[in-house]
Amino acid sequence: MTFICFYGVVVYMDFSIISEIVNVSKRLYSAKMVNAYEGNISVKNNGLIYITPAKVNKGTLREEQICVLDENDKQIYGSCAPSSELIMHKCVYEAHPRASAVFHTHSPYLTAFAMCGKPIDDVPSPEMIALYGSIKVAPYGRPGTAAIVENALEIIIEDDIVLLENHGALVSGTNLEEAYNRIEAAEALAQLSCLMKQVGQPKPLPQSEIEYFRTIYNSSHPKT
Ligand SMILES: [Zn+2]
Repeated sequence: MTFICFYGVVVYMDFSIISEIVNVSKRLYSAKMVNAYEGNISVKNNGLIYITPAKVNKGTLREEQICVLDENDKQIYGSCAPSSELIMHKCVYEAHPRASAVFHTHSPYLTAFAMCGKPIDDVPSPEMIALYGSIKVAPYGRPGTAAIVENALEIIIEDDIVLLENHGALVSGTNLEEAYNRIEAAEALAQLSCLMKQVGQPKPLPQSEIEYFRTIYNSSHPKT
């Protein structure tokens, strides 16, 4: 933790968060889940929002380009303008008590389901049930406005993941690593949902197994 002086006011900033956002952005870029124009990553810490900039390629992102905003939306750090989806991230933080990191991605398989308005609820694997239950879709809202997330808040508070119809995916986590793991595994399950139908008829899990793994899901997603 260090501090900067902004218009005479001392603000405490954590530069390790900035470097973690750069690292995770590059991992998401390498996994083809974000690019220059699509996707954004943020952290809320100590009253500040750290977020990726608009129109900068995530594969070449530099620390000085990460934007930091105070509680009054004043930008106190960063050489670029913040993502146009800043309002979406703020809405999630305001509504979701467990969220300290938020990712919005256009990961191709998850986004394909979002484009079709289809939930992912047909993968008969222990991981699907234990980690997600199902991945639901929120009705469309216009990007760049609060409407994008209006219909998604209830779902992300419960599930920490939601598909935004005709748009992409939104995940939350208690930290960056948890959010990264959640979107990475969800993208893999979305891909599996597509592939398994090409291979044949998926075999259902026994009911006792479904109930066992549902218990695991419920223990990690307490009702708020
Ligand atoms: Zn988007």
